[in-house]
Amino acid sequence: MNRREALGHLSAGIALSLLPSGSLLAAEPRTLVVNPYTGIDWERVGHHRASLHMHTLQSDGYQMVDEVVGSYRRAGYSILALTDHDCFQPNLHVRPKELPAEKASPYPKEPRPKGYPANPTWPWTDYGTASPAEHGMVGIQANELTYRHHINSFFCDYGVWYHKTGKEAPYGGIVDANGKEVWEDDQIAGVRACNGLAVLNHPGVEDKRPWWVRQSLDWYVERFRNHPAECLVGMEVTNCAPQRRQYDEGLWDQLLARFMPHRPVWGFGTDDMHHLDKARQSFTTFFLENPTTDKVRQAMLAGAFSFSVSTRNVNFQEDPVKLDQMPVLKSVTVDEAKGTIALAAADCDEVRWISAPASLEPTADYKTSDSPWPCGQVVQVGDTLDYRQTAGIGTYVRAELIRESDGHTHRTFTSPFGFATA
Ligand SMILES: [Zn+2]
Ligand SMILES: [Zn+2]
Repeated sequence: MNRREALGHLSAGIALSLLPSGSLLAAEPRTLVVNPYTGIDWERVGHHRASLHMHTLQSDGYQMVDEVVGSYRRAGYSILALTDHDCFQPNLHVRPKELPAEKASPYPKEPRPKGYPANPTWPWTDYGTASPAEHGMVGIQANELTYRHHINSFFCDYGVWYHKTGKEAPYGGIVDANGKEVWEDDQIAGVRACNGLAVLNHPGVEDKRPWWVRQSLDWYVERFRNHPAECLVGMEVTNCAPQRRQYDEGLWDQLLARFMPHRPVWGFGTDDMHHLDKARQSFTTFFLENPTTDKVRQAMLAGAFSFSVSTRNVNFQEDPVKLDQMPVLKSVTVDEAKGTIALAAADCDEVRWISAPASLEPTADYKTSDSPWPCGQVVQVGDTLDYRQTAGIGTYVRAELIRESDGHTHRTFTSPFGFATA
């Protein structure tokens, strides 16, 4: 038996064992109403790797903007958002036993930009590097809002600096210049008011860290209810360390089960890079002919991307940068007459289709457990899904492309597809 046949047998075993008994259903009256990949010409598009969450010396990162941008460019990235924290002044780690004074960034130079130090690291040319166009990249104006739940803002200059409050970030009871308390809802509304997009960051960071407070499932439900998909586009799914993957992936499935198909919550893969020499391998891939800022924005709104994660870290200071080969989503073909979604994948051992969790009830304390809520269930294994004949599909399905090599697991996630049931 060759490797492919062996996987086929394995897949069949997994699929059958996961289906509920009596799973040979009559066709369900299920209509595909959300296909995030509509309109992509797979023959023409390029695969553009994006880093949508990264730090430099302009906040608590360890390298200059120029070195960060150059390293990601050498690694084949073409879309970058520098998301330095709005709550920090530059050079946080320039201090004895961390970084010597000569490593400090001299930027931004006088006159200080509007909003400093809460301003985004933007435009790049004010921070000692060439423009995105000169680098042959798309640069996105971005900021990590850090005073409460971390939120990445994109395509705008929103940021808050509450030094006056005199309280510890985060969750220190921050107030604005008029003394009014400022909450995440105010911040997301602020991003929306300046035409930006927002993403909720790394939900599963351990609660015991002094700068992080985990939030309940209901808290996330409220945020996605309170804010339209035109601004709050989704959440980070693969930012956290591998041991906490169930937290973020389970939260994503829990939200999808509640919100699809009427209000998609797109998932993003980011590495949250602070050190170039020990970064996670997690990124988002956009399928675009000629990427521009506006096309990236449209794709973020539509879910027209995939994201990938590896269990292995990477050193961006090596030349060449040795990124692992993640599974590649080559195309998505929907046949609504047959009721099928077919994926073509490369560098992939197995495709798993995942739908709603068995239960929407939390099963453990979200503050202390790294798997407090049930994850989505595998409903099918293989390149093609028959969404009318397959049991266990709720109002959405998403796929994971999986590849194992050298004891590490590399996964690529599709965005969710949404269904209406009659
Ligand atoms: Zn953060
Ligand atoms: Zn960050």
